[in-house]
Amino acid sequence: MTVMTESSIRFRDLALRLLEREGALTGQLMPEGLEAVLPTGVQASLGSGELLRLGFGAELPDGAVRASLESDWLEKIGRLLGTRGRTLRLTLGVGRAAPPQPERLLDRAVALTNAVYRFHGMTSAWTRYLILVFRYTAVSDEKREGVVKLAVNLTNGSVVEGFTDELLAAAMAETHPATPPSAEELPADWTAARLKSWTAHTLPGRVRVPLGLFLGGMQRRLDRDLERIFDYYESLRRESFARQCKQKADAPREQLRIDAAAREYQVKVADLKQKYGLRIVVELSQRMELIVPVERLHLAIKRRKGERRITLDWNPVVRRLEPLPDEWSYSTLGHRSVCDSALHLMAAPGHAPCDECRREFCRVCHGLQCPRCRSTVRFAN
Ligand SMILES: [Zn+2]
Ligand SMILES: [Zn+2]
Repeated sequence: MTVMTESSIRFRDLALRLLEREGALTGQLMPEGLEAVLPTGVQASLGSGELLRLGFGAELPDGAVRASLESDWLEKIGRLLGTRGRTLRLTLGVGRAAPPQPERLLDRAVALTNAVYRFHGMTSAWTRYLILVFRYTAVSDEKREGVVKLAVNLTNGSVVEGFTDELLAAAMAETHPATPPSAEELPADWTAARLKSWTAHTLPGRVRVPLGLFLGGMQRRLDRDLERIFDYYESLRRESFARQCKQKADAPREQLRIDAAAREYQVKVADLKQKYGLRIVVELSQRMELIVPVERLHLAIKRRKGERRITLDWNPVVRRLEPLPDEWSYSTLGHRSVCDSALHLMAAPGHAPCDECRREFCRVCHGLQCPRCRSTVRFAN
């Protein structure tokens, strides 16, 4: 018996539903396939005849074409979807639950370097999670494509990428969505500026992670090619120099040869620069909003004479407390420090020392301009 992966099952079910919706007569084929009689419009869009047989598993049904996630069928089926499925707003019908010992969860989740906190109780509440799915394409001498997901709790800015897939799975399995609560019970939309800051701070790093091996491989090929070219021209130069030393050659002519080789070397290096130049395009492909009943833990953060009230949500789908927000780099791990003036919460990059005067300052308060020496620091996450 062949084993069908969860993603191929989802792909087959999606294809079945879309084809049906487009007016095709469909049926499942064994093993792990589908067959469909297509209306004319769909035939044209899929570049297929009237009868379509697709196989999604390792073993193909008789006469079926392989439709894996790596094949062009993903794009063809995607074309049927058109602009549908780009946005989703769903209220999960998950039942209310509460963590038995919230203080102990806080002990583990809240790590502050320069402040203390006090727990002020727990209430039942609602929140909205915004999940953005981006498609990236990296093109150099080779090409890589993939998907990254950003996810945030709109109430407090907690980054919930640690359990995005669980939330999405719960959304896909939701057969009885709940009635959403009134707008007053939900956090407001983020401003365009805040959304932009969130994506600008997080996307580059999140795209870099899956591309790590690709970039590493590219760098190795580039280094190897550079070394090869350098060795070649260096040996030409050495031979020419040796000829001059033995005074067998005409010195001005050898010099001309060396100059020509040096120019050629520069041209080859410029060619490599073009060959390995990297272009990454990132596009938003889906925007999803999940409304979820949560248990809200209320805390007071205290630093010197300052105090700031914040909340952390406990999510009933994964039964986990969300990480403390990082209001600058939106990281999920590590300690948080708080600033003196507004008690902003941030991981180390958010209060890194100024490049010039070396004084630490809060990036949420001051952006990239040092409040002491006024110099603009580099953006770093
Ligand atoms: Zn400075
Ligand atoms: Zn601040």
